[in-house]
Amino acid sequence: MTVFLVGAGPGDPGLITVRGLDLVRRADVLVLDRLAGDQLPLEAKPGCVLINAGKAPGDVAMTQDQINACLVAHGQTGQLIVRLKGGDPFVFGRGSEEAEALHESGIDYEVVPGISSSLAAPAAAGFPITHRGLSTHVTIVTGHENPDKPETQTDWAALAKAGGTLVVLMGVGRLTLITDALIAGGRSAETPVGIVERGTLPTQRVTTGTLATIAEVAEAAKVRAPAVTVIGEIVAVREAIGWAERLPLAGRVVAVTRARAQADGLTRRLTDLGAKVISAPTISTVPLAGDPIDASVYDVVVVTSPNTPPLLLDRIGGDARVLHGVEVAAIGPGTAEALRQIGVVADTVSERAVAEALLETLQDRIAGKRVLIARAEEARDLLPEGLTNAGATVDIVALYRTEYAVPTGEGPLAADAVTFTSASTVRALVAAYPDRDLTGIKGISIGPVTSAAMRELGVGIGLEADEHDLDGLISAVLEVLG
Ligand code: SAH
Repeated sequence: MTVFLVGAGPGDPGLITVRGLDLVRRADVLVLDRLAGDQLPLEAKPGCVLINAGKAPGDVAMTQDQINACLVAHGQTGQLIVRLKGGDPFVFGRGSEEAEALHESGIDYEVVPGISSSLAAPAAAGFPITHRGLSTHVTIVTGHENPDKPETQTDWAALAKAGGTLVVLMGVGRLTLITDALIAGGRSAETPVGIVERGTLPTQRVTTGTLATIAEVAEAAKVRAPAVTVIGEIVAVREAIGWAERLPLAGRVVAVTRARAQADGLTRRLTDLGAKVISAPTISTVPLAGDPIDASVYDVVVVTSPNTPPLLLDRIGGDARVLHGVEVAAIGPGTAEALRQIGVVADTVSERAVAEALLETLQDRIAGKRVLIARAEEARDLLPEGLTNAGATVDIVALYRTEYAVPTGEGPLAADAVTFTSASTVRALVAAYPDRDLTGIKGISIGPVTSAAMRELGVGIGLEADEHDLDGLISAVLEVLG
């Protein structure tokens, strides 16, 4: 087996390569870098061993020698080892030292390039590192070396004379030394400078100045690593480009609390609107084992949530034709859509995604019918009770259980808005932060049942969606933050 040195990209989990993500999902062991972010590890398969080699300034987690030894040791086990590194593994990431260690130990390895922050952070901030007529070359340079010391390998005076664009990594602690050295070397003190902190991440921030002013400006703004400093005439072009600022949710951070398996559509649409999305799955759905079901003996099969159709299909033997002649009723358009994906067109769909709505539709014509309700273990009794009272014979099958998952760190609480797509996401968030006052968060609720749970549990409601589906939820986010 091979050890894969994978570039995670600059931070936004959408900016890893297709091959990189595939390897992360298949990894038996994932060795993480601090800059690899906290979202990509969520993609690891269950049972994957996560090793945090990350070094936060001040609290050294593992030395480079220890990391090398760790990769070599795991590389000998025959498992699939992924070393996930921020940006590109070979751009100031010491990936080449890890490669050397593996090579010396006779362990096969492969490098999967990544989008380096040196390119991505300027682009995400609207700084084109090359621009016709302004910059014909780019130098990526470490600011970690002390330009004051005679043994420095970086010839700042030569860089000053060469002009073009300079992209400085790891330089925020040494801004004064670097800018002084460049000015002393002949670069104009008026040269525009932009600093991009946490580029492509939800908390990205841009600070601008000139070679003469930036050190002071950065100090006042408390600029911190990780940050990329961009120096050159192209910095001024940002005003004309500023692509990101024009999107309706630009600069806004939205948390998505729904289970990972269902979060994609919502995440994608919010991202397309310019929002930075914190994926904070508070619940996960765990399929429950059980006996095969003969669905053909029922008059009506009720499907309660978008999670249900694939699990139901499994339980009825994988052949949707069994449902021929059976009325299939879905709670809400999202559930109907999930049914379509298994090749079943629902006969009855309640407009609103709440049990009450479907009960209303069915209760007058359900007397004497045999009904199967396919649902979650912990669902409410409203529907079975209501249908029984209306004269139906009701069986229930629990196809899955929802379990709480704890989001990492401040996660959703740091967002400008938090989306809730069900009452269970509300309960799960409250369970994840038992000691926190959540009345201040801007919760965006998909509908009345979710809102009721929010009120009951003291979760702040920014707005409840008019339409109780994803479109409605997105409109509500836009109304609150747009
Ligand atoms: N291999 C990485 C760089 C590792 S060196 C890459 O290709 O991106 C670490 C430095 O990278 C940080 O000090 C900072 O200068 C820069 N960096 C990494 N991620 C960043 C981000 N999201 N925004 C701004 N700078 C970042």
